[in-house]
Amino acid sequence: PPAIRKISEKHDKVFVTGCLEPDTSTPRANAAFVVLARNKEIDGVIQSIKSVERHFNRWYHYPYVFLNDADFDETFKATVRNYTSANVEFGKVEPGTWGFPDWIDEKVAKEGIAKQGDAAVMYGGMESYHFMCRFYSGFFFNHPLLLKYEWYWRVEPEITYFCDITYDPFLKMIENNKTYGFTIAVKELRETVPNIFRYASAYKRTNNLTSQGLWEMFVEPQEHKEEHEDPNPPLPDEVLQGKPASLPPIDPEAMEGEKYNMCHFWSNFEIAKLSWFRSKEYNDFFQMMDRSGGFWMERWGDAPIHSLAAGALLAPRDIHYFRDFGYRHTTIQHCPANAPARQLPRPPWLETTTTDERKRKEEDEYWESWDEPKENGVGCRCR
Ligand code: GDP
Ligand code: MN
Repeated sequence: PPAIRKISEKHDKVFVTGCLEPDTSTPRANAAFVVLARNKEIDGVIQSIKSVERHFNRWYHYPYVFLNDADFDETFKATVRNYTSANVEFGKVEPGTWGFPDWIDEKVAKEGIAKQGDAAVMYGGMESYHFMCRFYSGFFFNHPLLLKYEWYWRVEPEITYFCDITYDPFLKMIENNKTYGFTIAVKELRETVPNIFRYASAYKRTNNLTSQGLWEMFVEPQEHKEEHEDPNPPLPDEVLQGKPASLPPIDPEAMEGEKYNMCHFWSNFEIAKLSWFRSKEYNDFFQMMDRSGGFWMERWGDAPIHSLAAGALLAPRDIHYFRDFGYRHTTIQHCPANAPARQLPRPPWLETTTTDERKRKEEDEYWESWDEPKENGVGCRCR
């Protein structure tokens, strides 16, 4: 599949090829691991730290920042410190960044959440999960313990790395002028985000943002698409005025021109630049999404929020696919030596989405090519 490789390599290629001895002579980046967790998740946290340390951090010693909506207990802190020699800090989320914001009618929000519970939306009925998603969407990057850092690597309880990472991904992100890195992209559960795309595309439209080529990664190709001037319904006045809207459902007719394909970067792994999240553009995006009420009346995850923000604000060249990282979280994994062929419907480095058959075929061939182990250093000391 050399043709497709050319397309992909135009925007993003594997950072390091071959199996290296870890190079620790380079200076460290201004970066930390970020772990949001609860005390009761200590076992899953230890599993994650063991894996991160074994496959990467025993050579690089990047610090960890642990965040919680409650206080970490002494057992949690001592146990964590037992498993890494790196610097570790523990913090509590800032007031106002967790729970219901003062502008929402709590009764309405709680009813919305209960409804999602009744409808068996995954985690939809769980208040704390909504809090978590909103925190990771709009606030973690401004936590006082993170302000001194420019880069972060997100870690969750119960993750596994299964290949050695023998280079510093932060330095490579910097060297290659990248903003956001992922290793798995999957489809979101539609019922958790029925209206998310309406607001994301309205943001794009109201700010006159033209796609830099990444937005198309999130758009379902429409076979018989008609040219609409303005395919999305206008943003409700309440949202423009900063009041929570009731999230009226999408008029399928009106949305015909542009439909969310549910693709998103799976955000439990992320290596990204904090200044992007702290930028005015990202925060305007978050504000507008937040004010729509979608974190309550629907169960918007931080993964589609981060992804659609990237789609609106970034270009394919800003994104890095860590295709060489062996990574697993619960039931989904990415194995570099045997990459699931069609897990990513739309490689972000493709300039535009196209239904053109030829390109499709090249794409398929591209993914199939990942069945060849060892190429590009992929499969380097995986265990
Ligand atoms: P899933 O991966 O989507 O199934 O969701 P998780 O339960 O793993 O939650 C995502 C992340 O947020 C993990 O790092 C959790 O430890 C963390 N998290 C979720 N809910 C809470 C919460 O109520 N309090 C705290 N402190 N962390 C939470
Ligand atoms: Mn998780």
